[in-house]
Amino acid sequence: MTSAFDENIALVLHKIDDLRLEPVPINEPKDGEVLLEMQSVGICGSDVHYWKRGCIGDFVVRAPMILGHESAGKVIKVGPNVKHLKEGDRVTIEPGVPCRRCDFCKTGRYNLCADVVFLATPPVHGSIARYHTHAADFCFKLPDHVTYEEGAFCEPLSVGVHACRRAGVTIGSTVFITGAGPIGLVSMLAATAMGADAIIMTDISQSRLDFAKKVGATHVVLADNDAEKTAKRVIETLGSMPRISIECSGAESSIQATFYATISGGVVVLVGLGRPLVSLPIVNAAVREIDIRGVFRYANCYPAALSLIASGRIDVKPLITHRYNIKESVQAFQMAESGQAIKVMIYCGKDAQK
Ligand code: NAD
Ligand code: ZN
Repeated sequence: MTSAFDENIALVLHKIDDLRLEPVPINEPKDGEVLLEMQSVGICGSDVHYWKRGCIGDFVVRAPMILGHESAGKVIKVGPNVKHLKEGDRVTIEPGVPCRRCDFCKTGRYNLCADVVFLATPPVHGSIARYHTHAADFCFKLPDHVTYEEGAFCEPLSVGVHACRRAGVTIGSTVFITGAGPIGLVSMLAATAMGADAIIMTDISQSRLDFAKKVGATHVVLADNDAEKTAKRVIETLGSMPRISIECSGAESSIQATFYATISGGVVVLVGLGRPLVSLPIVNAAVREIDIRGVFRYANCYPAALSLIASGRIDVKPLITHRYNIKESVQAFQMAESGQAIKVMIYCGKDAQK
């Protein structure tokens, strides 16, 4: 006999440092929704942040919340009016479902929708569970040869695709990326696939730089505390000033380095989210006509991210360094927090392999 615990279990964050695997109800798919048997969910820095700090900016965990938003699963039931999916379809899940009615939604910048419902952003539950219901139009069918964990990777990869689109990466671009964590790495992979010639990455960790070099960065440089020194090293190593800089660390000195390094008329894209107020060489940027562009998640990037993976133009598999079963979720989070992993995947399926 199966117990309720076996029917649906989820990883619930009750409060700071208090993560519990516990039974939760299985929801019926509503109009336009599908019920999914979850398979792979990646751990994001934000999941770890909610666990250890209980908040990100104004988003505060006030009630128990299921974590996880980088996910893929199998459709096991379709709700009314779902046309493009059927039982048995394998899908990747875009975690942010916007209102579809406001000007941002109607003009395609739905990531800016004020009413977006985003998984594992309080008070919305995430997807580290055996079962999860989701808007069917934010589920994308995986080709047979794409694995669930590659499907889950479409989430962070979409951030990289969006950052490169915002930056205008194209054939022959020279790109400077600060921070060789998962987000810096997916930005590097997306930039490579979009035609960039040279991609130089910085980090304060030599092991992260070694990894970046192994998976495709053309150049790496250890960041200095002094931003101007870092920029100088970047320019010397690259042999020219990069036209595009993508900041993926959130560190103040690193943001400053992108401004100093970028060629006049170039672009700085801000992906990293650190302290809310930082000091920047703004006159330098103004008189050299540096364009500064923000990035908030992504919009319309899942199909591109999936196509890059499905076609083999991007291989995300080397970035998946650790795998756990849902029952070992707390260990998985400890590993993600340790800084030793790049991407930790949790397998949620009933007969999930590790
Ligand atoms: P991470 O912490 O794994 O990686 C950050 C990397 O930056 C680390 O390897 C760290 O060693 C490095 N770093 C720290 N200080 C540095 C410095 N001074 N110079 C160069 N490198 C330095 O985080 P991640 O998951 O890769 O995410 C990166 C950033 O992107 C975070 O700030 C995260 O909040 C942000 N993010 C933003 C969005 C968005 O929509 N804008 C989406 C996802 C993540
Ligand atoms: Zn909207």
